[in-house]
Amino acid sequence: MNVTVYNVKQGDSFLINNKECFSGVLPLLVDTGCRKFNMHRKVSVSLKSELFSILITHSHRDHMGGLKDILINPKCNVDEVFIPWYLPEILQINKILKKKFAAYNSLSLPSFKSIKLSFLGEGDNVYQTGCDNYKVLNPPKNADQVYEGLMGDGLVSQTNDVESVITRLNELGFDVDIRDVVDYSPEITPDAEQEIYRAQARKFVLKFFTTMSSFVFGAKASNIKSKVREHLELLSNHTSIVFKYKCVNDGLGWLFTGDADTEAFSRIMNGKYKNYLKADMLKVPHHGSKENLDAVTLGFINPLFAIVSHNNFKGKGIDRHPHQEVMDLLNIAGVEVFYTNDVKKNNKVIMKSSYSRPFSGLFKF
Ligand SMILES: [Zn+2]
Ligand SMILES: [Zn+2]
Repeated sequence: MNVTVYNVKQGDSFLINNKECFSGVLPLLVDTGCRKFNMHRKVSVSLKSELFSILITHSHRDHMGGLKDILINPKCNVDEVFIPWYLPEILQINKILKKKFAAYNSLSLPSFKSIKLSFLGEGDNVYQTGCDNYKVLNPPKNADQVYEGLMGDGLVSQTNDVESVITRLNELGFDVDIRDVVDYSPEITPDAEQEIYRAQARKFVLKFFTTMSSFVFGAKASNIKSKVREHLELLSNHTSIVFKYKCVNDGLGWLFTGDADTEAFSRIMNGKYKNYLKADMLKVPHHGSKENLDAVTLGFINPLFAIVSHNNFKGKGIDRHPHQEVMDLLNIAGVEVFYTNDVKKNNKVIMKSSYSRPFSGLFKF
C-alpha cells in the first residue's frame, strides 16, 4: 500500500509514497487541497523530513490552495514542483482580467527561488528516469487542441479579432489592456522546449480572448462576469494534468485526473496514449461531476475501484458534487467506490464514507 488519500472535503490531495520504485523517484504529493486543510502539517507528519515532490493538477484553490504553506514550511522538504503546461498562463489571464476578478487573483504561483519547477504535458513522464510508470496524458502541448476540445465545433465560427472582443469586454466593465494580451510573453518557461512553450503560451492567452466572442457580443453587463468566470474555470479544468501511475510492486494502475472533463478524455481516447487510460483505480474527475465523466470514458478506463473526493453537495451552484448520475454510472459498471465523505440525501446517508473501512489494502485514508 503506498497511496494515502487525504480528506480535504471538496478538493484533492493524495500522496504516492513508493520508495521501491526507481532511483530518482521521490514520494509525490498530488494536489494540496484548499489552504484551510493544512496539508503542510499533514505531509510533514506523513513524511517526517523526507524529500518529496508536488504535482499540481490545475489552478483551482481546492487543488493548489495549500501549496504556498507547504513550500514555506521548513519541515517540508520539497525537491520539485510539477505543474501543467499553461498554468502560468491561466494565472496570468486572471491578472489581465483584474478588477472584476479581485478575489480570484489571490491565487498565484509562489516564488520558486530554490525549488525546481517543471511543466508537464501530454507524453511526458513525471519523473525523468526513463521509466514511463508516471505517464502524463493531458493537457496537450498544442494550444489549438486545447480550445478545440473546450469549444467543440463552435470554434469554427469564432472570430480571430481580439481587438473587438476586448473592446466589448471593456464596454461591459472589464478593465482589460489589449497589450497584456497581444504582447503576452511568459515569465517562466520549462527548461527544455522553451521556444515551443513560448509560442504556444502566447497563442493560449490570445485564444482565451478570441474564443470569448461566442458570448461577449450578446451578453449583458449584469451577467458577463459569471460567463467569463465560467469560461476560465472550464479552461482550467480542461487543462488539468491527467496521469497514469503504475505501481511496480503490485502492478496496479492508478489514473489521476484532477478536474479534467469529458472532452479531455475523449481527446486522449482518440490519441496516441489511449492505452494508458485503462486503469485499476480511477480518481473520479472533478469530485463526481457529470460534466467530467460519461459512460464511454468510464467503459474505456474500465476501473475496478474508484475514489470520489467530495463534500456531499456542499459546493456552490453547479459545484454541488457528487452528481447522482456519476454515482449511478459507477454503480451500474460494478465499480467499487470509495467516498471521502458520507453522501446524504434528505438527511439520510445514501452512501457511506470509506472512513469506516480505512484500510482497504489498496490505499489508506
Ligand atoms: Zn476540484
Ligand atoms: Zn477545478
